[in-house]
Amino acid sequence: MKPANTLLAQTGTTIFTVMSALATRHQAINLGQGFPDTDGPEDVLDAAAAALRDGRNQYPPLTGVPELRAAVAAANKRFYGLDIDADTEVVVTSGATEAITASLMALLNPGDEVVLIEPLYDTYLPVVKMLGAVPRLVRLEPPHWDLPRAELAAAFGPKTKAIVLNSPMNPIGKVFTAEELGFIANLLVQHDAYAVCDEVYEHLVFDGVRHLPLMALPGMRDRCLRIGSAGKTFSLTGWKVGYVSGPAALIGVVAKAHQNLTFTTAPNLQRAVAVGLAKDDAYFAGLSGDLQAQRDHLVAGLTRAGFRTLPSGGSYFVLADFSALDADGDDLAFCRRLTEAAGVAAIPLSAFYVGAAPRHHVRFAFCKRVAVLDEAIARLTRYFYAEQTKADATLTAAE
Ligand code: PMP
Ligand code: GLN
Repeated sequence: MKPANTLLAQTGTTIFTVMSALATRHQAINLGQGFPDTDGPEDVLDAAAAALRDGRNQYPPLTGVPELRAAVAAANKRFYGLDIDADTEVVVTSGATEAITASLMALLNPGDEVVLIEPLYDTYLPVVKMLGAVPRLVRLEPPHWDLPRAELAAAFGPKTKAIVLNSPMNPIGKVFTAEELGFIANLLVQHDAYAVCDEVYEHLVFDGVRHLPLMALPGMRDRCLRIGSAGKTFSLTGWKVGYVSGPAALIGVVAKAHQNLTFTTAPNLQRAVAVGLAKDDAYFAGLSGDLQAQRDHLVAGLTRAGFRTLPSGGSYFVLADFSALDADGDDLAFCRRLTEAAGVAAIPLSAFYVGAAPRHHVRFAFCKRVAVLDEAIARLTRYFYAEQTKADATLTAAE
């Protein structure tokens, strides 16, 4: 029999699914895959339930229900001062995952080059390759993850069609600064290129910093496809409602991609997300404030357990360097051991790299109730204390 598609056949199951399955098998606390353990706002849930019962359950419009497109346009204005036309400049998708694929489909021809930043979220590279485009990888380095400007500039050339920019960035929690965005904006203008802006964590930014979309910078309005996710903004990751905002000329093509991927997205969820996006400022401040407190709680606990955490300015995630606890430097083996023996699941940072990767860091999700974080910290502390006691005993016996 002829083989199936080579690229997909060779693609492994995502690390998030692998670690979640391992966590379930070992009854571990799952701080791996990023999902909150409490559902989002009651009024949004009620709106979805009510919308199921009022007779609008057939195919909604291809680009999204008018209520949600209007709400996405209004949110762009309210949070970033962006003027977006609800009828021609928004497409609603089945999650940001579809939005990313549809945006790349809309921009890329075979042979086009795409700049990607490592560590990178796992859907970008396979999609770029599936489209026959050529990835140009630029790497950020721990612990500061500054934008390597010379390398980035060198990755751009006459064939560059786009950059994929994820800010706040999974898995490192980096929030790109205005200066870094300005540098990227200059490159886009210089090379006549576009940006696919994965901004799913736009409302999960901490320490008083405000998310700044690349699209809001001068000259960027018509070069960016800006992607949001109701899953993250309303703590409802299973809903899979995403949205793309961009210039009409590009959004029309994104709509064609969406037409061929899923065509449309559950109408009741769309209408509920419209209610969510209209919530008052206190909701959005509360969301990031609560997460910031959860971040601080987990960071303090991880530090007590012997990890060295790296700064996280946004997203659900914090990275922890485990060299003091395990000198081997195999982050996947460490995560397996943590899940199976300590009862806490995490994600190895190396899963976000194509080639050689830093091997001493794991990603923990802090979007969990404080009691759950406390139990995870207690398990980790107990486990590493026992390991240390065993090691000390071996040392004493050898003397
Ligand atoms: N982009 C990034 C950076 C993510 O972390 C995620 C995680 N869910 C997504 C996109 C996908 O979002 P959605 O669940 O809305 O498809
Ligand atoms: N984005 C989530 C994470 O980084 C996972 C989404 C998924 O499992 N595909 O944990």
